Amino acid sequence: MKYRYEQLEQLDKQYVWHPFTQMKSYIEEKPLIIEKGKGSYLYDVEGKKYLDGYASLWVNVHGHSDPELNEVLHEQIEKISHSTLLGSANVPSILLAKKLVEIWGGNLSKVFYSDTGAAAVEIALKMAYQYWQNIDPVRYKDKNKFISLKEAYHGDTIGAVSVGGMDLFHRIFRPLLFERIEVPSPYVYRMDEYGDEKEIVNYCLTKLEETLEQHHSEVAGMIVEPLVQGAAGIIVHPKGFLKGIEKLCRKYNILLICDEVAVGFGRTGTLFACEQEDVQPDIVCLAKGITGGYLPLAATLTTEEIYSAFLGDVHENKTFFHGHTYTGNQLSCSVALKNIELIEKRNLVSDVQRKAHALADKLQKLYELPIVGDIRQKGLMIGIEIVKDKKTKEIFDRSEQIEHKIILEARKRGLIIRPLGPVITFIPVLAMTDDELKTAVDIIFDSIAEMVSIKQF
Ligand SMILES: *Cc1c(COP(=O)(O)O)cnc(C)c1O
Repeated sequence: MKYRYEQLEQLDKQYVWHPFTQMKSYIEEKPLIIEKGKGSYLYDVEGKKYLDGYASLWVNVHGHSDPELNEVLHEQIEKISHSTLLGSANVPSILLAKKLVEIWGGNLSKVFYSDTGAAAVEIALKMAYQYWQNIDPVRYKDKNKFISLKEAYHGDTIGAVSVGGMDLFHRIFRPLLFERIEVPSPYVYRMDEYGDEKEIVNYCLTKLEETLEQHHSEVAGMIVEPLVQGAAGIIVHPKGFLKGIEKLCRKYNILLICDEVAVGFGRTGTLFACEQEDVQPDIVCLAKGITGGYLPLAATLTTEEIYSAFLGDVHENKTFFHGHTYTGNQLSCSVALKNIELIEKRNLVSDVQRKAHALADKLQKLYELPIVGDIRQKGLMIGIEIVKDKKTKEIFDRSEQIEHKIILEARKRGLIIRPLGPVITFIPVLAMTDDELKTAVDIIFDSIAEMVSIKQF
């Protein structure tokens, strides 16, 4: 039986609790109910189509329902959907691990699987902590803290929230969290008083060095989103910041964990963000784009040195006691492997660079709008900060929900985008064509302009 929109709407509101959603407002609005997807488009149950300008939460790479990805899943499902990695191995997880190490192309040689970005982060933190305990529990007994950036976001489980720095999401849970040390991040648009980009980076790195001088013996590692802090509102770090972090981690003997969950797999114009600053972390977290947006999968990659610290006789208890039921699932791993092969075969990364460059010009015209304060872009990751006053950079009162109204205008015009606080984020399907990208920017312009005319600037 096929359900009609009204029935589905009623059932959705009756039974489903949506993530990161104030359900009181949600039930007052018409929900978007997606039925299918093809290429850069999502289709709702009534057949209306929308450009996927948030890549279905930053995950979609080649477009929806890609024939080659579909085929590999059909083939795998005929063989087996799942068997466990606890005490046995499986073919797709072996081949994918090899591929991940090869495409990282650096010092990382071991792959630990999980199924969400947050889990990949939990694993990185536990691995980093236990690494120090395994190599010298006396000397490193105090190394139980992590450093992370202001406005950091690393996922929503308790460990990942512990290293998070977004007050709005994380404040309420503070009593449940382990200790974190916060250092400033270079949010250039809102740090005028610190000078130009270079001076802002220097300021942040100086603060980090002061922190490390004082606390390095208590710190297991530093976790950072390389190049772009996504959930914080697409805060793009100036050149040199990531490299500076790496140097300081080396100098003070703490581990560097790079959370590439959002920025990995071509999003910023290189396969991995770390490449752009020639940085070699000790641990890397991957998720979101890894399966091309098909299935949940994540991976934590690390070095031979860290891996070796967990080797010993069984009774020594150096084992990494961590694992999830679906670790290394065959369907997820097989589609991830194919996704990576297609990224290579279709030259997607250089294509992202070219499209990002063309898009940068088109985005400039948004500055004509009186409420567009800042446009930030790295590859195909775009944030447009909405302000009430361009001079003072004051944002609108949160109760006005202006950013939410803008995305509803965009939806009417056939584009799905999402706000993060005062920032409109545009994170398109990576394979979105030039024409589709142009259409999307035109819709964003018109949707913001509509707000301007309602507010009569
Ligand atoms: C989305 C995200 C996560 C969390 O990933 P989930 O799959 O939602 O658990 C972690 N880190 C970063 C940088 C992210 O953008």
